[in-house]
Amino acid sequence: MNFQSKKIVVVGGVAGGASFAARMRRLDESANIVMFERGEYISFANCGLPYHIGGDISQRSQLILQTPESFNTRFNVDVRTKTEVIGVNTSRKCVTFVSNGSVSEEDYDYLILSPGALPVVPATEGVGNHRVFTLRTIPDTDKIIRFIQNGNIGDALVVGGGFIGLEMAENLRQRGLEVTLVEASDQLFSPMDPEMAYTVNQHLKANGVKVILGDSVQSFSETENGKFAALLQSGTAVKTSLVILAIGVRPDTQFLSGSGIRTNSRGAIIVNDQLQTNVEQVFALGDAVEITQLVSGARVTIPLAGPANRQGRIVADNIAGFDSKYRGTQATSICKMFDLTAAVTGLNEKTAKAAELQFLKSYTHSANHASYYPGASLMSVKLIFSPEDGVILGGQVTGKEGVDKRVDLLATAVRNRLTIYDLADSELAYAPPYGSAKDPLNIAGFVAQNILNHISPVCYSEQVKHLFQNGYQILDVRTKREFGHGRIEGALNIPIDELRNRLNELDGKRPVLVYCQVGLRGHLGVRILLQNRFRAVNLSGGYKTYKAYQESLGKESIITLKTTEKKTEPVIINACGLQCPQPVNKLGEAIGEAEEGEIVEILANDQAFASNLSSWCAKTGNLLISLAAEKGVYNAAVQKRTVTKESGSEERK
Ligand code: FAD
Repeated sequence: MNFQSKKIVVVGGVAGGASFAARMRRLDESANIVMFERGEYISFANCGLPYHIGGDISQRSQLILQTPESFNTRFNVDVRTKTEVIGVNTSRKCVTFVSNGSVSEEDYDYLILSPGALPVVPATEGVGNHRVFTLRTIPDTDKIIRFIQNGNIGDALVVGGGFIGLEMAENLRQRGLEVTLVEASDQLFSPMDPEMAYTVNQHLKANGVKVILGDSVQSFSETENGKFAALLQSGTAVKTSLVILAIGVRPDTQFLSGSGIRTNSRGAIIVNDQLQTNVEQVFALGDAVEITQLVSGARVTIPLAGPANRQGRIVADNIAGFDSKYRGTQATSICKMFDLTAAVTGLNEKTAKAAELQFLKSYTHSANHASYYPGASLMSVKLIFSPEDGVILGGQVTGKEGVDKRVDLLATAVRNRLTIYDLADSELAYAPPYGSAKDPLNIAGFVAQNILNHISPVCYSEQVKHLFQNGYQILDVRTKREFGHGRIEGALNIPIDELRNRLNELDGKRPVLVYCQVGLRGHLGVRILLQNRFRAVNLSGGYKTYKAYQESLGKESIITLKTTEKKTEPVIINACGLQCPQPVNKLGEAIGEAEEGEIVEILANDQAFASNLSSWCAKTGNLLISLAAEKGVYNAAVQKRTVTKESGSEERK
């Protein structure tokens, strides 16, 4: 360790900057640390701002975790608030700053950049109107609260369905305002996949928020009666008194132009795994940097408080002489919307596809704690995992209670490359008020294990129509009553408890797509069918996920699969007795002759078949719909697909 006195200049005094300075001081009593902050406050709770507007955090002072004085007393840091750094000269190792209107310079041995991000403000007509606000700082919060109080405001428009927009929608509602939320894409909370985020949409509506998806603001204008309106692309005019713009952020790095410090095309500072920029002794962290997505390895910006704080420690460690590396951000985030919580970690389908990773997924819906203990509620878990070894690539959880601990466990699993087998094997704290002897995450692990081990092959909501058209019969194993309340049209209803005695009602020549409400009875149905020589797949997540999927596409939950539609018998190849690679070669020939979207089934009993098949599908882009193993015989269904590659980088709103 090097304890020589060094001069360290920090730009930005909130999450990353203050974390860095505090850790630096703990490691080096002799360092001369100067922290510049453009605003009036340092180390304030920006994540708490929406809750102060809504009133849950009643005292403004609760948002201010340290004052410049208290920070200086505790950490001996020269804090300069209301001081903006306007330039960096890396050859002379000094920064230029403005304070009270006068320009001065400060030299440094080490420069730490944690300037954060600025809300994106589009060049929309009328965006400069006094009724349009963004939220990043305490003064922004003050302005919004004052405007609501003084203007006797009764309604608001939130633009953007990311976590700040969602939190603002809730908190403005909590203040008694009528709230409309408009989001340009087709879903809210983009870190989640649409069918999971659909619950968020429904919940907002149930709590009185009007949600408009797939539309965006074209202009803002005053209307005759002293009101204000946002004109949307669709032609809809939303009358409102107050607008909160929450459409994302961009790195606040303009002041670095000409400094030689490398940034990407969006202005994010490029750093290595020690968070060092291309210029020696200049480090950067927080919302302003481009980092590595932990799971996919993609270079992305993911503006979150946890990474900024941890990066602050890492930079301090490196300057103090410890070798400390930032392994990447996995984008763990959580959002409260009234009494619903939605949380994610790692990759979702979009980011996994962009990274060209093969993945399987599972949906499970289980009670958050023992269902006989009062207050249990349903929790939905989606896992994304590797088809090779079951490594968990990402997880998404929604529910009313206990979502936070489940997502944190998944976050730990993703960070440490744990598998679905580890999840199934996790020994988690259990007593009836907190969980179940089989925790929702154990269950998610069991289900994923059954998929990966080919014990219970599944299909997904987006495949239902295709499978039906390819000759699958659809079997609903719920009760008559449930069936009557909503179903996949064209399904035959045989309640699970009657299935064993009514197998003769099914066509033994055609494969069966089984579903129930959440997937459990469907799994039982598939096990019964497979052991009775049927080919069968379970609809992952059941009708609940299917309905959310359909509705997230803006479609009716009951799709009509007309019996008159063209249905083809699947091509079946019997490759039993053949050794690998022959079964896969035979499959390749059949797929070669099949039409796009057609399904080919194959039976094989060579043990190497399963892994050969997965990698063949991964390589050729054909879709492995199901793979079941029963009494030593594999039964696989593969859909002909021509590969289309998606690319792009992840951006968190
Ligand atoms: P900041 O904390 O923003 O600090 C940057 C500071 O640098 C700013 O105060 C700025 O004034 C100052 N600065 C910039 N340029 C200069 C300059 N040239 N000279 C001097 N000073 C400068 N994240 C979560 O993980 N969970 C949440 O629940 C969550 N909620 C949020 C809610 C809101 C309303 C907001 C706005 C953000 C929220 N975030 C949340 C994001 C989180 O606050 C940020 O990721 C985190 O603060 C980033 O830390 P940072 O140090 O990079 O930037």
